[in-house]
Amino acid sequence: MDKPSSSQTHTTPLPAREGQGGGSTLLFPGSFDPFTRGHANLVERALALFGEVVIAVGINPQKPGWIPAEERLRALREYYKSDARVRVESYTGLTVDFAASIGARAILRGLRSVKDYEYELSMADVNRQLAAIETVILFADPELAAISSSVVRELAHFGKDITPFLPEGFPKII
Ligand code: ADP
Repeated sequence: MDKPSSSQTHTTPLPAREGQGGGSTLLFPGSFDPFTRGHANLVERALALFGEVVIAVGINPQKPGWIPAEERLRALREYYKSDARVRVESYTGLTVDFAASIGARAILRGLRSVKDYEYELSMADVNRQLAAIETVILFADPELAAISSSVVRELAHFGKDITPFLPEGFPKII
């Protein structure tokens, strides 16, 4: 078969993906307990690629976490209130079901090191098999790769100031 001419290549629209609307919403699911500078960096970079990022706090009633989910949501909504490209939601159940309910084009996850790799790979595989949804992985900014919510929780537990690990200007959470 002949190769399409370049004009054809440029004018052929990408097919919309069934059930996902073909939109440009990227779902960023996580515990965000707490939301850190590492997470905020991913959101900022993802906004250069997608029109909208939905930050979704996954709620597991069996695991209430460190900061109450309502408080995580309140702080995130306050922080992003002036950016119309970012929405903050919560969800229970499977991430792929929530992704379908909001018509997300893909799921955003971050990779800090090889330690994250196997987990993120298996989640991405399962989600693609379950719902034909892709996972967009952004590598951590090297300066922020050491930041994790669990390290921040541990520092707070020992009375250390956690402000340097939170996005600048982030509302007080504890
Ligand atoms: P979960 O509990 O679902 O792993 P987290 O809130 O811990 O959720 O993290 C959400 C996503 O953000 C994960 O993909 C994680 O790898 C990524 N992430 C966490 N910290 C950083 C960081 N410092 N830089 C880049 N990505 C990060």
